[in-house]
Order: sequence, then structure tokens, then C-alpha cells
Amino acid sequence: QASLLEVRKLETAFRIEGKDYNAVDQVSFQVKPGKVIGVVGESGCGKSVMSLSIMGLLPKGAGRVKGGEILFDGKQLDQLSNQQMNKIRGKDITMIFQEPMTSLNPVFTIGYQLEEVLHNHFTITKKEARNKVIQLLAAVGISRPEKVVLDYPHQLSGGMRQRVMIAMAIACQPKLLIADEPTTALDVTVQAQILELLKDIQRKNNMSIILITHDLGVVSETCDEVLVMYAGRIVERTTVRNLFDKPLHPYTELLMGAIPKMEETVDTLETIEGIVPSLTNMPETGCRFANRCPKAMEACSDITPVLAEEKSNHEVACLLYESSKPRGGVTL
Ligand code: SF4
Ligand code: MG
Repeated sequence: QASLLEVRKLETAFRIEGKDYNAVDQVSFQVKPGKVIGVVGESGCGKSVMSLSIMGLLPKGAGRVKGGEILFDGKQLDQLSNQQMNKIRGKDITMIFQEPMTSLNPVFTIGYQLEEVLHNHFTITKKEARNKVIQLLAAVGISRPEKVVLDYPHQLSGGMRQRVMIAMAIACQPKLLIADEPTTALDVTVQAQILELLKDIQRKNNMSIILITHDLGVVSETCDEVLVMYAGRIVERTTVRNLFDKPLHPYTELLMGAIPKMEETVDTLETIEGIVPSLTNMPETGCRFANRCPKAMEACSDITPVLAEEKSNHEVACLLYESSKPRGGVTL
């Protein structure tokens, strides 16, 4: 089956005091139609920068795509003009974020903002747009949508606002939805409802989702495949089943140990010692996890592990595995 999205050797660099630092480093992966891919890792691992790179939404003057290719539905996104990207964004690829309040405009009604999305991409009358919006709000589980179209964002609860964002994101029946920590700001019960809703819409529309999260519990409930990112690189990629069966990368093992119980509200990953190195402090050679890895060996600070298939459909980048050792003694 052909891929809907294929990312090849993506490098996103931030320029700091005249030097380039890769916040996303040589990232390659594919998303098939109708699949849900989880991207997991602590904050600062490059998950959001990666998705903003795909969307062409990196903040001006900050990061830029420096290398690699982003192929989506027959188009090479990294080569498109801003105008061409505008036609794809919000229609074929859409995005939802952690805090819907920042994506909704406080001075316009919910109905107005949703209708705008439709008018931007389709030629329809006001009345058609209003009817469609009411249908969309009903589809995301909002009761009394005729009333909610007249509401302003602050009149809704966090969970309702996230439902509105989902309605906005699916208004044009996108092929790919990128959801960046969509439930992190919500309480546990609402979280579960929103994930269920996303899953439900995904099945009905055969949409693909890239779900960015720091929570492996969310991945296990929702995703087909998973990418584990650490310090801008993919360190493990496999099916959710394989991952929960047996994680291969020491970082993933630690993340697994850090899955919180339902009632805990502490930050999920605080249990892993140390922090992700900042961009300007990345080690120049070797494994970027070396200073926190309980299994680190001497070679780990010299040799950069290669992401390679260790088992069937299970890739890992760690020198504990033969497959990850660079060939011909080349150290990168
Ligand atoms: Fe740990 Fe070495 Fe594997 Fe990196 S390469 S994860 S430091 S064992
Ligand atoms: Mg993020």
C-alpha cells in the first residue's frame, strides 16, 4: 500500500549565534492511509518541531527545514510555495493543539469561525455553511449545536473547545490530522472521551492521524504504530503491539516504566532521571541518550547508532543491537 505521507531524512535546524543546530535530525518515517501513528517522547525531543515542519508552520526566523523531503499525497511539501501550502493546510492536512483557546479567536462566535474554514476551501452559501457547521458540531458530540454556534470560545469548557477544534479540523475531510498533545490539558475522563471521538472519526473517514504525546498510555489506547523520539532523532519505530510486547530501546523501557496510573497527576516522565539535552548541548558524536542511559557503554559516546530493523517490523537505534552498528566502522 502506498504511503500517504513519507518523510525522508528530515532535518530542521535552528540557527543560534551563527551556528545551525538540528532540532529534528535525519528523521524518516511513513504514514499509510487510515493509520494512526503515535509520536512519543519527553518535551524537547523535537515532536512538535517535526510536525510544524511537515505543516510548513515553523515560526519565521526561527527554525527551517534544512534537509530531506516531505512527500504527501503525490506532492513534495517542502518545495511548495506558501500559497500552495495554504491550499493543503486546513483542508488535506489539519492540526489540533493542546490548548484550543489559543487557536480559537476570542472575539468571534464558534459558528462564525467554523464557517470561515468552510468558506476558505469551498464555494458555498452562508446557509449551507451554517447547516454544515451544525452537522459537524453534532458529529463531534456537542449537544444543542444550534445554540453553541452562537457562543464565544470562553463560554465553553475545555473539553467542548477541543471538540470544536476537532470539528474545525475535520470540516474539510482531511486525509491527515496531526494532533499535538490534544488531550494533555484536559482531565482524565474528558481525555478518554476526546481520544475515543478522534478514533471514531478516524475510522469513519479512513483518515490518518499523527498523534503526538508524551503519554504512552494514550498511544496504547489509540495508535497502530509508534515512533519514539529522543533529542530530535527517532530511536525506535514499530507497531504498538510489538512495542508493548517488548520495547528494545533503553529510553522506551524507561518511558514504559513511567506510564502513570490513572489517579496520578504528576508529570508522566519525571521518573526518568536527568533531562533532554538542549539544542546547544547535544553531544557531537555518539548516542544522544548516553548521559542518561542506564545501559550505556564506552562506545556509546563515540559511535552514533543507526536506526535499523532488529526484528520484523521493529526498528531501533541503540548499540546494544548489532543492526544499529554502523557498517565498515564508519562513525558519524
Ligand atoms: Fe544506551 Fe548506548 Fe543504546 Fe544509547 S546506544 S541507548 S547509550 S546502550
Ligand atoms: Mg510539544
